Amino acid sequence: KLIVFEGVEGCGKTTQMQLCSQWLESLGVSVVLTREPGGTELGKDLRRLLLEKSEDKPVGEVTELLLYAADRAQHIEQELKPNLALGKYILCDRYTDSTIAYQGYGRGLNMSLINQLNDIATGGLQSDLTIWLDVDVEVGLARKRGQSKLDRIEQEKIDFHRRVQQGYTELAANFPSRIFRVDGSLSQELVHENIREILIRNSVI
Ligand code: C5P
Ligand code: MG
Repeated sequence: KLIVFEGVEGCGKTTQMQLCSQWLESLGVSVVLTREPGGTELGKDLRRLLLEKSEDKPVGEVTELLLYAADRAQHIEQELKPNLALGKYILCDRYTDSTIAYQGYGRGLNMSLINQLNDIATGGLQSDLTIWLDVDVEVGLARKRGQSKLDRIEQEKIDFHRRVQQGYTELAANFPSRIFRVDGSLSQELVHENIREILIRNSVI
């Protein structure tokens, strides 16, 4: 099974993926935790290129889109497909909806180009279920600021982040049988309980 976690900066994906993984393993399930960008060795290099902020090394918008797609193609071939074939549960931090939300809604790149690239990179592999951790963009960014230096994308203007949030809102409305919204402003324990309930209710576990 491929279970994806999505949301704006600081929505709590990392924490919730850890809790979800521990819970699944306690049920005897074999879990792989991975992420995009950066789920492979090549991907780690791509992630650094994408997220480092440097005035003398600008990243064009289409270039950015293609690098995320390249990271994804490699990730799917090297990590996702082999582990799915072994029957493992993959918890993946970001997937195709991030491209729609960030490069589509955030950057305003052509949506049919994005969908085409997602199709090419994934070969049609979709998540079995996607958890969208919904937090206010200001709340999420404040959490991030408290944890670490903001990366290139996190440093974008607040309006960029609001467009990304709007993207997730519309995606969740358009794909209600695949994307499930969880209120990410609740306590860690409650968010985790809600995620467990969604996975059980939808027969993912
Ligand atoms: O760890 P995190 O998921 O935040 O790191 C990925 C970073 O890459 C995020 O800051 C996110 O804004 C950015 N990203 C993006 N477009 C994607 C996937 C990730 O801008 N398609
Ligand atoms: Mg981030």
